[in-house]
Amino acid sequence: MSEVKIQNIEDLTGVGPAIAEKFREAGYSTLEEIGTQSPGQLSDATGIGQESCAKYIKEAGKNAKIGSFLTGTELMEKRATVGKLTTSSSTFDELLGGGVETQSITEFYGQYGSGKTQFMLQLAVNAQLPVEQGGLGGEVAIIDTENTFRPERIISMAKALELDPDEVLSKIHVGRAYNSHQQMLMVKKVKEIAKEKPIKMLAVDSLTGAFRAEYIGRGTLAERQGKINAHMSALARFGDLHNAAVVVTNQVSSNPAAFFGDPTKPIGGNIVGHTSKFRIYLRRGKAGRRVCRLVDSPHLPENEALVSITEDGIRDG
Ligand code: ADP
Ligand code: MG
Repeated sequence: MSEVKIQNIEDLTGVGPAIAEKFREAGYSTLEEIGTQSPGQLSDATGIGQESCAKYIKEAGKNAKIGSFLTGTELMEKRATVGKLTTSSSTFDELLGGGVETQSITEFYGQYGSGKTQFMLQLAVNAQLPVEQGGLGGEVAIIDTENTFRPERIISMAKALELDPDEVLSKIHVGRAYNSHQQMLMVKKVKEIAKEKPIKMLAVDSLTGAFRAEYIGRGTLAERQGKINAHMSALARFGDLHNAAVVVTNQVSSNPAAFFGDPTKPIGGNIVGHTSKFRIYLRRGKAGRRVCRLVDSPHLPENEALVSITEDGIRDG
């Protein structure tokens, strides 16, 4: 049987413009993004029935070549291209096995004021350093959902590294997202920017804040998780395609009685956890220091590093 290879989501059997729009609204714009979902996730995120979703996933997966095998050698070759981005703390870099990896999502989670945004800003400066100095020699895109991007902090951190602050600022592309829908659409805008500029780091600060504010109550949980999942898939794919580091922040509730019970558990629960390859839990330590704990990495031991947040940025603690 000869099969016509399909490329767009509209080419899926039974998908017309209306259903394609539902997919795109929920953040699914490619066959791969659909083909890697489970029927339940896709149905929750789009409102399309599970049975139909199962059919779409099967056809999308087949056409996007999902489920094919790679040899260990091929995978090792892919690993060799992974870049490591310094955090400006040598002990923390060591904990991460050399720095924040490209082609992966690294999640910083912790309470308000634990330093998530400071880490993200430091990485945005460092990503511009040449590879020999622990950078990625590229530009940066930040999806800012909380309006906490501060150019002044970038200037201080850049000066401390003897970089030209104006040049550093000119290579950071900040998109302000006012709700989760805009936040998801912004990944597409970043893809557009990446056609012209070598974007080597993409950050979302905060990944979950808008979702948490908009999807309130038990009944909306599945839908929220579906959307976060679709968003994470798009981010992971960006990191893969562009050999970029993807950094996301996630606030944990400081109120034990709040929506998510355990204050040390990141918002978004398992779905964020399963897609983030590196999860770092930040908390305040003694004398203004921050304790950075690496939680469930695929190949590194769970361990902690102490850092300080200074006027110059993140430093060994
Ligand atoms: P989060 O994003 O986790 O809510 P932030 O990354 O915004 O937290 O961290 C805020 C903290 O960072 C401040 O409470 C302060 O301790 C530290 N900080 C911010 N700016 C500076 C600075 N210029 N010098 C020293 N510490 C700073
Ligand atoms: Mg913040």
